[in-house]
Amino acid sequence: MISTLLEGNKRFVSDDFEKEKEFYNALLKDQRPTVLWIGCSDSRVAVNTITNTRPGEVFVHRNVGNIVATNDWNLSAVLEFSINHLHIPDVVICGHYGCGGIQALDEVNTEDKYIPVWLINAYKAKERVDEKIHALHIDIATEQRMKLIVEENVRLQLEHLQEYPFVRKSLNDKSLNLHGWVYDMATGEIRIIRTERPAKS
Ligand SMILES: [Zn+2]
Repeated sequence: MISTLLEGNKRFVSDDFEKEKEFYNALLKDQRPTVLWIGCSDSRVAVNTITNTRPGEVFVHRNVGNIVATNDWNLSAVLEFSINHLHIPDVVICGHYGCGGIQALDEVNTEDKYIPVWLINAYKAKERVDEKIHALHIDIATEQRMKLIVEENVRLQLEHLQEYPFVRKSLNDKSLNLHGWVYDMATGEIRIIRTERPAKS
């Protein structure tokens, strides 16, 4: 498998890179992405493919469950760089149906060390959905419940994002919009879950 990647790179150089040398040369100077994408590490949610974008357009951070944890230095540095230095005006948090990370929220007997600790940052999404289902006294199919948790997790992570003082400041300055999306692997479509725009003054 690993040799496939290197062979693929050779084909990329001889086919794409050579054909579009001007485009790739322009990218040597700098990058001016207009979107920060916070998505899941899942191999099936390939940012540039599903958004039909090219290199240089989307600044990307991916982790298990598209989680925003304010004690995560990795994401914190990505956020600081993209908002304060690249001045990116739009941040997208994109979840996806069929997310293994979200499904793992239901696992109780696991020998994993790190995944459960990481998923604490998404646990409230599961709690909120289960409370709602319980309060409504309805039966809901497992798959549908999971979809609701995926969507709620996107809302929850948008909340976490706004705990960063410089994110709040940029929202107040009207220089930043936050978008919560979910990618549906069954149709290829992105659903808009929530948009946080600057408060009207
Ligand atoms: Zn996932």
